[in-house]
Amino acid sequence: MLNLKHLAVFLLVSISLMQCSRNLTIIDLPISFDEQRKQLSLDYLKNRYEIVKDFPSIEPKMVVVHFTVVPTWQKTYGVFFGPKLPGFRTAIQGASQLNVSSQYLIDRDGTIYQLLPDTVFARHVIGLNHSAIGIENVADGDQLPMTNEQLKANARLIRQLAEKYPIEYVIGHDEYQSFRNHPLWKETDSNYLTQKNDPGEEFMTKLRKKLAGLNVKGPPE
Ligand SMILES: [Zn+2]
Repeated sequence: MLNLKHLAVFLLVSISLMQCSRNLTIIDLPISFDEQRKQLSLDYLKNRYEIVKDFPSIEPKMVVVHFTVVPTWQKTYGVFFGPKLPGFRTAIQGASQLNVSSQYLIDRDGTIYQLLPDTVFARHVIGLNHSAIGIENVADGDQLPMTNEQLKANARLIRQLAEKYPIEYVIGHDEYQSFRNHPLWKETDSNYLTQKNDPGEEFMTKLRKKLAGLNVKGPPE
């Protein structure tokens, strides 16, 4: 027999289960955001995009999906942690000394880590960082292909971000150059471009299927 107390407990459990399935579990794992990273981010916005601000914030309009090539989340966290780019990154060093990073990192089992707040600047995609939230995934597309858990986690995270921000585009890093003639493209040096293959067409096709019904676009023609 159900009495009132049982009913109350049942309702509470039901409500908390509903909230669990609606809200994603995101683990806070902040990288260093010290005075140096703040200044290097402000310099990047000014020098690369001619955007002058007091604080390096972004206005999210797109999500860019990446893979790390680094084999674990711990090592990736170590790579992104410090504010300055390590000396061996010669191909992108001339553009800025700011270290690369992203707002999110997804491990192979689908665990989502938040490295920076959504609206804090991260260097992860040429031309578009002022409006792009970056999601890195622990994978390399070859020995470590993207997992099904990562696919699900990316889709759920992007759906949640699209509820909070006016996200218009969801693209793979390998698609970024198709924005070169788009109003969102702000890079001032037309020769500053790098070739990317992450996360690849196969993953983005699967991800777009998972995002069906969400009002977002892929790269412009
Ligand atoms: Zn990338």
